[in-house]
Amino acid sequence: MAVPQNKITRSRRNNRRSHDALVADNPNECANCGELKRPHHVCGACGHYDDRQVVSSVEEIDLDDDAA
Ligand SMILES: [Zn+2]
Repeated sequence: MAVPQNKITRSRRNNRRSHDALVADNPNECANCGELKRPHHVCGACGHYDDRQVVSSVEEIDLDDDAA
C-alpha cells in the first residue's frame, strides 16, 4: 500500500485547501414572475426563459383530458 513519505504540515494542508471554498450563486429575478432564478436557466417557478414559456408548470396540465 502506498504510504506518504512525508507529513503534510498544517500549513501545507491549509494552503492546498485555500482554493476549496464554495462560492454562492448569483441569482437573477425572473422577468415573468419575479422569483429568483439561476442565470441562463429556465425559471423553476413559472417555466419561462427569455420571455417565453418553455416548460409548462404542474398546475397548468389538466390530467382529466387524458382520461376521457
Ligand atoms: Zn418565473
